[in-house]
Amino acid sequence: MTKKQKNLLIRVIVAAVFFVPLYLISEGILPVELPRWAMLALFLIPYLTVGHDILRKAALGIRNRRVFDECFLMTVATVGAIALGEYGEGVAVMLLYQVGELFQGVAVGRSRRNISELMDIRPDYANLEGEDGQLERVDPDEVETGSIIVVQPGEKVPIDGVIVEGASALNTSALTGESKPMDVSVDNTVLSGSINLSGVLKVRTTAEFDESTASKILDLVENAASRKSKSENFISKFARVYTPFVCYAALALAILPPLFTMITGVGWAGYATTGALWREWVLRACTFLVISCPCAVVISVPLSFFAGLGGASNQGILIKGSNYLETLSQVKTVAFDKTGTITKGSFEVTAVHHNPIDAQQVLAYAALAECHSSHPISLSLRRAYGKAVDVNRVTDVQEISGHGIQAKVDGVDVAVGNEKLMNRIGVAFMHCHHTGTIIHVAIGGEYAGHIVISDELKANAREAMEALRRAGVSRTVMLTGDAEAVAKQVAGDVGLTDYRAELLPQDKVACVEALLSESKGKLAFVGDGINDAPVLSRADIGIAMGALGSDAAIEAADVVLMDDDPLKIAKAIRISRKCLGIVKQNIIFALGVKAVCLVLSALGLANMWLAIVADVGVMILAVLNAIRCLFVKRL
Ligand code: ADP
Ligand code: MG
Repeated sequence: MTKKQKNLLIRVIVAAVFFVPLYLISEGILPVELPRWAMLALFLIPYLTVGHDILRKAALGIRNRRVFDECFLMTVATVGAIALGEYGEGVAVMLLYQVGELFQGVAVGRSRRNISELMDIRPDYANLEGEDGQLERVDPDEVETGSIIVVQPGEKVPIDGVIVEGASALNTSALTGESKPMDVSVDNTVLSGSINLSGVLKVRTTAEFDESTASKILDLVENAASRKSKSENFISKFARVYTPFVCYAALALAILPPLFTMITGVGWAGYATTGALWREWVLRACTFLVISCPCAVVISVPLSFFAGLGGASNQGILIKGSNYLETLSQVKTVAFDKTGTITKGSFEVTAVHHNPIDAQQVLAYAALAECHSSHPISLSLRRAYGKAVDVNRVTDVQEISGHGIQAKVDGVDVAVGNEKLMNRIGVAFMHCHHTGTIIHVAIGGEYAGHIVISDELKANAREAMEALRRAGVSRTVMLTGDAEAVAKQVAGDVGLTDYRAELLPQDKVACVEALLSESKGKLAFVGDGINDAPVLSRADIGIAMGALGSDAAIEAADVVLMDDDPLKIAKAIRISRKCLGIVKQNIIFALGVKAVCLVLSALGLANMWLAIVADVGVMILAVLNAIRCLFVKRL
């Protein structure tokens, strides 16, 4: 609880202690006789104790010409009730309203804290190693790229870097939602925000603090709340129109019926005097004001979204704003990239078919030509070659998206890529009867053979498609630059509804556009961020997978899945559906109860007690319901 909340709690308790005996006296339950002025004075003590800030805010609102807010509603209603001699009710309304405020403040504060606890990845310090080998504890902000830092067991990795000494297990759950520790040793990359579990690690930093993973993720999460969804925008507009409307309606309720009765004489029965008639209707109008206070809806909708974003990030799913949460909930079609998204993207060389020169040499040329590319194929070819590559032998490297690489090795033209690339440079190639991705190699304009590589499906790829179907996604389409045969096999193996093969990056955009015009719901594109940034931004919603550490993908995507697990796609959709469902429930429930109470009060069947209990009760239930968004079942 904050200081302010504690203060309010004390005021509520003090006021309640005063209020209860006074109320019993005023109802004639306690046999004490007091004159009216004394009762009024006594009731004003709890009233002002608990409500003085509301009165002040209402006054401020009037002075700043922003009249119609909740404080104004409460002030008019309670002052009205007290002026009409209903001391007990006036004070009770203020008291209960503040109980509601207190509850709401604590609940919101708690869920915020929960989220920042879940996202507890902000490093506090770094142990910088000086030239003399001494450790110095410094602000991570001050560490320059390329410095050596030491991470002790139990500490958070403060800055991204590469291990130069030591081995350990890292807990990355705050980043990825994956609870299994990850073993790391020399030359492995460590990301800030993960926790060192066992050994001492010496790390050479590869980024500044601001550019490190933890800072980027925190930025993203903190900015997410500012991208409002349509529902949230609707609610704030709604409140702006609704509150004044209610005030005028209350005014009309206080004036028109009694005027009507006085003029026409209809409805006089039951009223002894004109004063009694007016008193009755003004009181009804006050009740009406209390009931129509919109706080439950106004509070619970943003809170639900906020909790939804928090629950998702706890699972390693970063959603960049509540608007995306809303779009995600309407997804009916999901399009995928193949390499790195459905498959692991770590190819094994299964065969090398060569002609004039030997196999190892074909591989060597391929690895050399690929030395600068970050494409998964390139990484795999270099791994298969196994030896260190001398980059000085390579010049004029040209990477052609969807085709492959052209470069000069020792001054000789080398081309490494698919059939399209061979056609482009006019080299006759041999077809291969193996299934797998075929990488042709041409050296000095002559065909030198091809390397057959094959990729593995991700462990959860099949389940992921099944989970998507269960989550209501009717169409799953794979868009790949790879050959037809490979695409067909992968699509069959994982159970996709459709696939398109041999696409260049720009063809993928065209495909997504075609799918967009065909599909009824929203379309999501899932990619790994390597050469698919244009598609990520063209789809209704772009999901980058395994994006931890990939800047381009974090930039281009609307949703970032921090690990490689394709099951998270369905999970993200389920979280968004649940969240939107809760928002809808809250709106319908709150407005429904209000509508019933409003009608009752207009008919004179509800008093202020009922009104305030309904209001605070609805608010509490709506807030509790909203907080459910924070809790996501782990799969
Ligand atoms: P995907 O849609 O599967 O992610 P890409 O569009 O990245 O595929 O690449 C499509 C095809 O282009 C690959 O299957 C490969 O044949 C060829 N290719 C792309 N980049 C390279 C590279 N660096 N080296 C060799 N071939 C490449
Ligand atoms: Mg790709």
